[in-house]
Amino acid sequence: MKKITTTDVLIIGAGAAGLMCAASAGYRGRSVTVVDMGKKAGRKILISGGGRCNFTNENAEPTNYLCQNPHFVKSALSRYSPQSFIDLVDRHGLAYHHKTLGQLFCNDSAQDIVDILLTECEWAGVTIKLRNEVLSVIKNSNGYLVKTNETSFQCQSLIVASGGLTMPKLGATPIGYKIAEQFGLKVVPTTAALVPFTLHEHDKQRFDGLSGISIDCNVSSEDGTHFRENILFTHRGLSGPAILQISSFWRSGQAITINLLPENKLSDLIANWQENQGQKSLKNLLSTVLPKRFIESLIKSGEIPDKNINQLAHAEIEALCHYIHTWQIKPNGTEGYRTAEVTLGGVNTDEISSKTFEAKNSQGLFFIGEVIDVTGFLGGFNFQWCWSSGVACGQAV
Ligand SMILES: Cc1cc2nc3c(=O)[nH]c(=O)nc-3n(C[C@H](O)[C@H](O)[C@H](O)COP(=O)(O)OP(=O)(O)OC[C@H]3O[C@@H](n4cnc5c(N)ncnc54)[C@H](O)[C@@H]3O)c2cc1C
Repeated sequence: MKKITTTDVLIIGAGAAGLMCAASAGYRGRSVTVVDMGKKAGRKILISGGGRCNFTNENAEPTNYLCQNPHFVKSALSRYSPQSFIDLVDRHGLAYHHKTLGQLFCNDSAQDIVDILLTECEWAGVTIKLRNEVLSVIKNSNGYLVKTNETSFQCQSLIVASGGLTMPKLGATPIGYKIAEQFGLKVVPTTAALVPFTLHEHDKQRFDGLSGISIDCNVSSEDGTHFRENILFTHRGLSGPAILQISSFWRSGQAITINLLPENKLSDLIANWQENQGQKSLKNLLSTVLPKRFIESLIKSGEIPDKNINQLAHAEIEALCHYIHTWQIKPNGTEGYRTAEVTLGGVNTDEISSKTFEAKNSQGLFFIGEVIDVTGFLGGFNFQWCWSSGVACGQAV
């Protein structure tokens, strides 16, 4: 029979949420063991933010999170705020910088964040067991018995921090949802979010050659949510921050609407061009405010007229302005979990305490981080959720 290791707290997942929780619980004098099937801790942190980890967002608010119960995130976020995490990285002397919209990134490497978390875990006396894949969980009179491919653990408190389904190459598994269901907790259906769109064949053909072009836009979904950031044409479809953001609100079969000139009113620009540059082509004039190759592709596919600016009839100007300010694309789908940053849906928050993260129906069983039905916007909000939920739970177990 395999040896059974006893620990007060067992955490499944050495990701952002699991490590943060482990340190918090360890500092309270609990014996804490973290198991992870990977050969390294914090693998998603290492690839995040283009290798520089956008580790929080100074402006994080409950409204930056999608969750069936919008109030659920409030308690943890207010108790461990972005400033709390900034104070932690400051204590470790991390060099970081502000990007746009409140986003904070490491100057050097995402490894610095993993190092901070591992140092905190070490100081808190946490044991981390890598290459341990959790295979089963059984509830018994002493708490929970967790079997991995290596060994077995008996714990009083079991914390599931196993993340979502994105990036299966990095060890994403549905174990967290399975444990939830095993103990009678509901799971909100999951889908890939913060993910690029793929296009229907006709759109792929008409945008062929635009790969790499990026445009500052205002992108809206059918429910009226909108984001003002860049869109990016790729060889597979559409990406860029505005597209990733809106993907969390898009549902299959829906269109997205893109205001290609959010800073200007095209009708004003055209009036000015007609007055001062009447002999110039619409193509050349539009190319002063939008990428030339993009305008050429719209002319080639007949969506905007190939005329001089002073040849445009009133109705053509109206149609053109409408087209540019409410450009519609119906994505074919998304690139899915393979490239998505997060998983929408997860363990239903009605089943969990927003203060301690304990399952309401199973004493000693906790869920934190991305495995829960809480999905942040793009921009450091998802890590902040891991820090906040991890600390709240670590203080309770
Ligand atoms: C490419 C990319 C870039 C991102 N960039 C950012 C960013 O800059 N800022 C931001 O805020 N968010 C970013 N995110 C999102 C962020 O990485 C996640 O929200 C966050 O890592 C979730 O942390 P977690 O601890 O809940 O889960 P995870 O980090 O996914 O950790 C879960 C751990 O559980 C382990 N595990 C799973 N199943 C088992 C099992 N059966 N047995 C043992 N172990 C198991 C996994 O190996 C994994 O290590 C990015 C995501 C991706 C994919």
